[in-house]
Amino acid sequence: MSIRVLVWNENEHEKKNALVKKLYPDGIHNAVAAAFKGQPDITVATATQDQPEHGLTVERLKATDVLFWWGHMKHGDVDDKIVERVQARVWEGMGLVVLHSAHFSKIFKRLMGTPCALKWREAGEVERVWVINRSHPIAAGLPEYIEIEHEEMYGEPFSIPEPMETVFISHFEGGEVFRSGVTYQRGAGRVFYFRPGHEAYPTYHNPQVLRVLLNAARWAHNPAPAWTSINDAPNVPHDKAPVPLEVKGPRLHADGEAGHR
Ligand code: ZN
Repeated sequence: MSIRVLVWNENEHEKKNALVKKLYPDGIHNAVAAAFKGQPDITVATATQDQPEHGLTVERLKATDVLFWWGHMKHGDVDDKIVERVQARVWEGMGLVVLHSAHFSKIFKRLMGTPCALKWREAGEVERVWVINRSHPIAAGLPEYIEIEHEEMYGEPFSIPEPMETVFISHFEGGEVFRSGVTYQRGAGRVFYFRPGHEAYPTYHNPQVLRVLLNAARWAHNPAPAWTSINDAPNVPHDKAPVPLEVKGPRLHADGEAGHR
């Protein structure tokens, strides 16, 4: 069975800004989706924020193995109920790849539990995305670094939790550095944040950037069945303990009683 990728985009700059429209006439989501076209192990679809339920219905998410997320201007307009729904699917095992300005998306901040803030500057700088974890699957097929001619600068400190793995560190022409590719595990779901992708530059037409996205889809895919009971907190009666057990001392809770949430 193939990896079912869904590329989600707020799709707002493309409608409002002539430059972005020229770079991404079919929207950033379709440029990102091009990374997976023709791959025999992947099927890809897209969804945008203006669709009913932001294109992220329960059925749609259930049928998604890895969700890619690009957002910027309209983070605040994403319905909290949908964010909770996406979070629940990540906990169950859906992969999530968070792109560029989506560091401030509700879903990423919620999963990280920290501000996810950073320094920034829009000056068309050269970005060198150094591969510092050479054997990591997300870096497969890449040279020592990816050079991007024009990018927005993102600088440290990036207020994220200490990553599970750091795959890329970027250096910018103006001197700043940034952890550009970091991984996390949340519940059964793998999360990857990838920095490049400012809307004013053709970053998502760069074949090496697309290679990272392809690698990330394969890395974030969890083939295990969804861990749908991950939210359950069962009160296990003493006679159901793995080793036979007598109840000792006082207790406040009856067998089988539900716990407080
Ligand atoms: Zn940007």
